[in-house]
Amino acid sequence: MHRDVIKKVEILADAAKYDVSCSSSGVGRANNGGLGNAAAWGICHSYSADGRCISLLKTLLSNYCLYDCAYCINRRSNDIPRAAFTSRELAELTIEFYRRNYIEGLFLSSGVLKSADYTMEQMIGVLKRLRNEHRFNGYIHMKTIPGASDDLVRQAGLYADRLSVNIEIPTEENLKKLAPEKDHQSVYQPIKSIQEGIAENREDRKKFRSTPRFTPAGQSTQMIIGASDERDNRILSLSSSLYEGPKLKRVYYSGFVPVNEYDRRLPQIKAAPLVRENRLYQADWLLRFYDFTAEEIANDQYPDLDLELDPKLSWAIRHPEWFPVDVNRDDYQRILRIPGVGVKTARLIVMARRRGRLRAEHLTKMGVIMKRAVYFITCEGGAAPSSGGLKVGGPAAATINELGPAQVRNLLLSKKKKHDPRQLWLPFQDAP
Ligand code: SF4
Repeated sequence: MHRDVIKKVEILADAAKYDVSCSSSGVGRANNGGLGNAAAWGICHSYSADGRCISLLKTLLSNYCLYDCAYCINRRSNDIPRAAFTSRELAELTIEFYRRNYIEGLFLSSGVLKSADYTMEQMIGVLKRLRNEHRFNGYIHMKTIPGASDDLVRQAGLYADRLSVNIEIPTEENLKKLAPEKDHQSVYQPIKSIQEGIAENREDRKKFRSTPRFTPAGQSTQMIIGASDERDNRILSLSSSLYEGPKLKRVYYSGFVPVNEYDRRLPQIKAAPLVRENRLYQADWLLRFYDFTAEEIANDQYPDLDLELDPKLSWAIRHPEWFPVDVNRDDYQRILRIPGVGVKTARLIVMARRRGRLRAEHLTKMGVIMKRAVYFITCEGGAAPSSGGLKVGGPAAATINELGPAQVRNLLLSKKKKHDPRQLWLPFQDAP
């Protein structure tokens, strides 16, 4: 590989590492004799120690940028090494890495070159080369440039499996403060355009199966957490509206990394707020799979997520009136609300109880995390915590209504401290 290209990879892959919206999503892209595939099973996800996805070649086309966003290492005013790939270089590099089995796909972003449209054209050029010249069928996730024209966004959707448009800062007021050249219109317009493209494509494919697919893995976005003063309820309410309205597949939360510490518009923090980021992913999981509303998880009364307990547990402690849930009688929705019960386990419970009344030992075998669930359920025979952990089949354990929320909280926190307090739940694991 040419030395120049290696140097560019070093600069541009490093410059892309702060964008977390890159996990690939299973989508079928048939291999018609070309290279690679994007079948759900053909894409593996791996995460670096800080939880960021590293399975794709994640790079910028260029880290030159016209804009001067306060939170970004690549902003115009920073004196850093700069580089830009040509579309040919980046397409060939992707193929080279693919052949060496380093990567299975591409995540492509970029700083803004001469204009949003010019940058998009260059990025689409890479995708066209990959798909048309190299017949590359692997997964491609492309980040669109805020302010790019609808026409270019629609073109990109014909080549990329997923498009993302980063909202970055949840409120327009703070976005204008930290990224003066951007506004929410330049972000929401492409989101709308992609949504319309997906809907039209769905209709077209009903009539003609041969219609090329448009952004088959949907769209996602990213918000930076902690660079501005939005509370968690505001962030979750925005995420909820993005899942419901434009039907985004994922919202990613990126704990603010203070790369430009000297900028007075930014909070003076030394490290990214990873616990908060983790709690937001958990809350997001509740929105998408547990039928929670954003308002239930965080609201005016509780504007921020509990950093000590996961959001589902925290909600349960605030709502003792919901409990105990009878695992032998209550409906699926109520069972889903029990801390320590995931979606799969809730389904198993509903199926298994048709064959007989469930006892604590059955729940443990089905995967219920009884050390959390025990205060919130009733089951045949009861389940009681003992000094060494949980003893099943003993006398009925006291529920949250008998112990009171404060004591349950203390008990759960003391159990948690016995485990590694630094251990975080990651967004790709089963839910809490
Ligand atoms: S437009 Fe993107 S690359 Fe440019 S400074 Fe802003 S966040 Fe960074």
